[in-house]
Amino acid sequence: MSVETSPVPFTAEDFAQRMARAAEQAEAAGLTGILVTPGPDLLYFTGYQPIAITERITLLALHGGRSPSMIVPVLERPDAEAARGAPALTLADWTDGSDPYAATTALLEQGGRYAISDSAWAMHVLGLQEALPDSTYVSMTSTLPMLRAIKDADELERLAAAGAAADASFEQIAKGQFAGRRESEVAADLARFLRTHGHSEIDFTVVGSGPNGANPHHEYGERMIEEGDMVVLDFGGIKDGYGSDTTRTVHVGEPTDEEREVHEVVRLAQQTAFEAVQPGVECQVIDRAARKVIDDAGYGEYFIHRTGHGIGLTTHEPPYMIEGDTNELEPGMCFSIEPGVYLSGRFGVRIEDIVTVTAEGGQRFNNTRHELQIVA
Ligand code: ZN
Ligand code: ZN
Ligand code: ZN
Repeated sequence: MSVETSPVPFTAEDFAQRMARAAEQAEAAGLTGILVTPGPDLLYFTGYQPIAITERITLLALHGGRSPSMIVPVLERPDAEAARGAPALTLADWTDGSDPYAATTALLEQGGRYAISDSAWAMHVLGLQEALPDSTYVSMTSTLPMLRAIKDADELERLAAAGAAADASFEQIAKGQFAGRRESEVAADLARFLRTHGHSEIDFTVVGSGPNGANPHHEYGERMIEEGDMVVLDFGGIKDGYGSDTTRTVHVGEPTDEEREVHEVVRLAQQTAFEAVQPGVECQVIDRAARKVIDDAGYGEYFIHRTGHGIGLTTHEPPYMIEGDTNELEPGMCFSIEPGVYLSGRFGVRIEDIVTVTAEGGQRFNNTRHELQIVA
């Protein structure tokens, strides 16, 4: 069992600062405010995560120059009041049988331009539109993609711990048996190890053996792993509220020269992209750095996805390391670098680390070795 202690919880002051910063960013982006419905953004701003995300509207409104307010169904008010961020909020509620949108619009400005959570239910957006016909709603992710992207020291500590727990899980799995076992059995071991190392939630346990490794969307199946297989292991989840996500590709027994070569190309691509991490560098430059290595080696057409994605309260979020993304890296951002080569019907190789940006360059949260590991 893990003997690690849980981190100190975020305080009302932490949440107040996050909300104030977001309201400023909204103003700077020419928005009246930000409307947040249940999900990772609400959790980030308030520490509140309603158990049931229902047809009943819950909405946090952040405006520049105004204190934050949140409206909840009256039956959920006790839970909302217990949230760590609640002291920084003005709480309102509405009762079944009343018009929830009329109650909600009391928090908002007629004619306002609002960024709203991408995951807000359409019925709520339509209800607000009807109640406040002069207001407009735009996507929060497209207007303020970097809202949660820069992590503070406490968040970085949690992400580093989640990464270390994933690394410990890999070390355990690599010592175990592969040949003669099904992908699903290895995946179950991975999930168990992640939980042992403090994960409360398992988001994915990819075990892609042989030809299954060439399909980046394959999670795991009933294929029996054999001597001679490459096996892509990509796994992660949530520990103390923050995500882990790492990939290593191992080989069962002695690899062929071609397998070694492809693995080496991917290793070099990952390393080159990592070395390109610096404050001020555009996200797309990280993608280009990895892609150039793979292109130059002649495998460009087999690298069929972006190089990376942000991570935080969720395992996939902005920023994205992809061609066309001109957002600049800033200290505190955290994202994956995960180039891969997929030879259809044969095998795949991917290597993934979570990396954070510091003033001096990149720093990895995954530190198991990158060389091709031989497993039993
Ligand atoms: Zn092989
Ligand atoms: Zn992954
Ligand atoms: Zn990933």
